[in-house]
Amino acid sequence: MAQRMPVVFFGHGSPMNALADNDVTRAWARIAAAMPRPRAILCISAHWETRGSAVTAMEKPRTIHDFGRFPQALFDVRYPAPGEPALAARVAALLDPTPVAMDLEWGLDHGTWSVLCKAWPAADIPVVQLSLDAGLGLEACVDIGRRLAPLRDEGVLIAGSGNIVHNLSLMDWQAPQGPGFDWAERFSADIHQAIAAGATETIVHYDRFGQGGRLAVNSEEHFRPLLYVLGARAPDDAVRFETDHIEYGSLSMTTVVFEQAAA
Ligand code: ZN
Repeated sequence: MAQRMPVVFFGHGSPMNALADNDVTRAWARIAAAMPRPRAILCISAHWETRGSAVTAMEKPRTIHDFGRFPQALFDVRYPAPGEPALAARVAALLDPTPVAMDLEWGLDHGTWSVLCKAWPAADIPVVQLSLDAGLGLEACVDIGRRLAPLRDEGVLIAGSGNIVHNLSLMDWQAPQGPGFDWAERFSADIHQAIAAGATETIVHYDRFGQGGRLAVNSEEHFRPLLYVLGARAPDDAVRFETDHIEYGSLSMTTVVFEQAAA
């Protein structure tokens, strides 16, 4: 049996990270270098929401530039990783009886490629995306992650890509390096603590954090990939926070790795 792969939640932030060389992008490269080479990557991106679940099942997923006003250089980025229809089918089998659509239209959105182009720049590892089912509650997202966990023993890296604190309408353009707003720093610290403690229930019920939770998670799609990742973690995994600062007041760049503790 292959060594159990880690599970990673990547805080992806701005698509411009794809063109940057900064603490965050270097952390992504470091995470990749420290783990066994994945046989394939299953990515749950904040930027693909569907009714019901879907997986990309094409041989050659396209690079989707799913954003507006950014420099041409960002639109020129391609991440030509192959797909893997067999992994898409395996995901559907693991999630059975939950229906999973075999998608041939989507591809790799920037939640996926803006991170992977830094972590595995050669783009030679097959990548499959699993959509966020917009109809699911957070508990159900955890359950899907739990059912995907066997992939970790099949050489597949399960990656979630979103942001824990993500409020674009409140961003402070004067604070590119932070610190975050008080409510953002507090919410981020509380969620980190819950992640470290394995208190997934606390995270599922983030609304109990009151106004801080409402402001931090002002739309849930960037938070949800974390729940899939938490479902796929094993109780005895070691937890490692790689980056955890808040940019622009209300965008947290937390990236966290769950991995089998050294024997
Ligand atoms: Zn995003």
